Amino acid sequence: MKALVWHGKEDIRCDTVSDPGIEHPRDAIIKVSSCAICGSDLHLFHNLIPGAMLPGDILGHESMGEVVEVGDEAKSALKKGDRVVIPFTIVCGECEQCRRGNFSVCETTNRKKGLADKMFGHSTAGLFGYTHLTGGYAGSQAEYLRVPFADATHIKVPDGIPDEKLLFLSDILPTGWQAAVQCDIEPDDMVAIWGAGPVGQMAIRSALLLGAQDVVAIDCLPERLSMAAAAGAITIDFTSESVVERLNELTGGKGPQKCIDAIGTESHVGLSQPDTLLDRAKQMTLMANDRAHALREMIYACRPAGIISIVGVYTGLIDKVPMGQAMNKGLTFRMAQAHVPRWTGDLLRRIEEGQIDPSFVITHTADLAQGPEMYRKFRDKADSCIKVVLKP
Ligand code: NAD
Ligand code: ZN
Ligand code: ZN
Repeated sequence: MKALVWHGKEDIRCDTVSDPGIEHPRDAIIKVSSCAICGSDLHLFHNLIPGAMLPGDILGHESMGEVVEVGDEAKSALKKGDRVVIPFTIVCGECEQCRRGNFSVCETTNRKKGLADKMFGHSTAGLFGYTHLTGGYAGSQAEYLRVPFADATHIKVPDGIPDEKLLFLSDILPTGWQAAVQCDIEPDDMVAIWGAGPVGQMAIRSALLLGAQDVVAIDCLPERLSMAAAAGAITIDFTSESVVERLNELTGGKGPQKCIDAIGTESHVGLSQPDTLLDRAKQMTLMANDRAHALREMIYACRPAGIISIVGVYTGLIDKVPMGQAMNKGLTFRMAQAHVPRWTGDLLRRIEEGQIDPSFVITHTADLAQGPEMYRKFRDKADSCIKVVLKP
């Protein structure tokens, strides 16, 4: 089959590889009808966790398709021909964390626990196409995908709704939703969202649906800010005005009660800000893994006793985080890789009822062979690219 294969930093190719087969009785094989490129894939494209990806690894973790083969122990839940969305988190559905709904920290599905135990203290869930720290599972930017723990790791979806409306149940829709839920939104809240990429876009609409009085979207890309404004967000272009000053202006000097980080490790402001220069230098010399400019700004801007909800991915050590400000302001931090299946029942119902249609975010559709080019386009935000869907 054809698949997008990681060969090294900024080197992704569409290769012919062997088809996956059933390796365990709980596996199923999916024929992928649609998959997408995520901001998280860019961290791997840039090889931000050296050694965590190996040449030959298949990328991708947002996908859906048709079940074409089912292992014996998954047959009670799935049959050939079922239409399914595959969450990026591989879940067993049985461990203590899965039973509590903390699916992205499933205790069972990371088959390379040793490595993650060492890095994180405790291993987290297996994830598709997302480094050997999360199990080294083959990803879904491919014609076929082996789904481990398939009896628990799937979302059955009805026929008659196009892929484009359902695909993002795999990741960015529940991620944006969780970002907003983590804010415990109250009716008079202002929610400020750093990053208006696909995840930020989902968070903006989720915060509004969950009743925030105002949502502010912060980014520098005009097409992303326009998309945010179309949903009803106030927008701030951080290259043309001070984010902190504008947020204070909007709140009578008090700052937003809730702040969402939808950027993560690759935050930037151009090279003019001294802390960003330092971040870049530290990242390049492996003295820190992550660039924290936006997180610092959030802590500074947030109203005392506010909540900082982080869904942007950080990879490891992070430098110069102002804990003194955070502690004395009494801020609450909530963060996670999305616990996808915790939200998808509710979100699928809202899609079926027409309340949510996440397809608005798609700007590019291409075939798998164009994948490497699409990675670069999405990374460079070229051609007003916001979200790429690939059709294997
Ligand atoms: P993206 O790269 O398309 O979007 C990031 C956006 O942040 C860009 O529009 C960029 O211009 C903006 N940005 C950069 N620096 C900024 C700054 N200082 N201030 C304001 N905006 C800034 O990526 P995406 O697909 O939207 O993903 C966003 C993040 O969410 C990534 O870190 C990704 O890994 C993460 N993610 C997390 C989960 C999860 O489960 N927690 C799931 C999916 C994605
Ligand atoms: Zn993702
Ligand atoms: Zn589990």
